[in-house]
Amino acid sequence: MSENSWWNRALKVLPGGVDSPVRAFGGVGGQPVFVKRADGPYLFADDGTQYVDFIGSWGPMILGHNPPEVTEALHEQLSRGLSFGMGTDIEVELAELILSKIPGMEKLRLVNSGTEATMSAIRVARGATGRNKIIKFRGCYHGHGDSFLIQAGSGALTHGAPSSLGVTPGVAQDTLIADYNHLEQVEALFAAHANEIAAVIVEPVAGNMGCVPPKAGFLEGLRDICTKNGSVLIFDEVMTGFRVSDGGAAKRFGVHPDMITLGKIVGGGMPLAAYSGKESLMQNVSPLGKVYQAGTLSGNPMAVTAGLAQLKLLYKLNPWEDLEQKGVKLETGLRKAAEDVGTTVQINRVGSMFTVFFSKAPVIDTETALAADTKRFATFFHEMLNLGIFFPPSQFETTFIGARHSDEILDKTLAAAKIAFEKVK
Ligand SMILES: *Cc1c(COP(=O)(O)O)cnc(C)c1O
Repeated sequence: MSENSWWNRALKVLPGGVDSPVRAFGGVGGQPVFVKRADGPYLFADDGTQYVDFIGSWGPMILGHNPPEVTEALHEQLSRGLSFGMGTDIEVELAELILSKIPGMEKLRLVNSGTEATMSAIRVARGATGRNKIIKFRGCYHGHGDSFLIQAGSGALTHGAPSSLGVTPGVAQDTLIADYNHLEQVEALFAAHANEIAAVIVEPVAGNMGCVPPKAGFLEGLRDICTKNGSVLIFDEVMTGFRVSDGGAAKRFGVHPDMITLGKIVGGGMPLAAYSGKESLMQNVSPLGKVYQAGTLSGNPMAVTAGLAQLKLLYKLNPWEDLEQKGVKLETGLRKAAEDVGTTVQINRVGSMFTVFFSKAPVIDTETALAADTKRFATFFHEMLNLGIFFPPSQFETTFIGARHSDEILDKTLAAAKIAFEKVK
């Protein structure tokens, strides 16, 4: 690698050479891939190498890259202008479409990233309830807002501690931590902090410690506890929205939260996200109410155009059943490939989200996820990459299946996995 390679140049001007940490391949070692372009199910590196893309820009590209319906809409919008700083018809249309599909949500606000959506959602919950504390789950990721970069403090039932430098203890004391899928811990926190908890925020399918499905009764239990205690239940569906069903996780599991945050797919690959809620909560948002939240580029016309075009295409194609079938095929195929060569793995999957954990025991929460063998995962990842299959470069990320992953591509992926599993043994 020459002194003047893009990676070496990147290291000089970007912290760790990247604009978002996972891209640096820290979880697997080796030099990260630089992408020049993408098409359908493929990524193309700057050296021309073609990869089957199972990252999908970390979720948004559920229909593959550059669907003509989306790029054409963007070309048309481009001729009208990039940003107006005033209301547009298309943002109303996008809001109407989203609210018609996501159960129970009555109003929404468009923002630029999932991070903004979750930060704003807890602000609304705090404003509406007049309470300060929130509960989040260990291993769930809600973007990089200060309130979420918190780990469990010492001793059960104490307040949280910052998990990042730069987050103050003052912020940390308002975030309480429970283990995912452990309802009894949530009950204990409510018992210890009665009338102090504004909201419980959860990934209804955890995707940011690898894919970890909710146990039967977990989401329903959270719903009951929040209702009983007058706390706001927030489903962070930035990853699961429009992915695990046509109405996200709330529809798939039939559990209705008070607020839902959306991102990734909703922007069609552009920086766009949203937070939504019942009217009684969203009426608190400025300028209607006293919870302040704003954005110069919020509802940006190009981002809205991409999101709207992809969502319309998504509902026209209705790919969810097909994605489920692709998921079944990959899950059973990967399991068999591992068994055939005598490699023990755990495969967690919900719809088109899955993770291959190199672990002997089932992965049901953070502790069991962290027990996975990340060295074996790294070997598996690089073996797959060499064979042209781009899985996420971390044991603790979710692999995304898209509508453009054809049967032929899935077969090729399974054949590669068998070779890779053999190497990991
Ligand atoms: C990706 C993600 C976020 C953060 O979204 P950004 O757009 O990266 O800020 C928040 N919550 C969940 C569940 C996510 O998967």
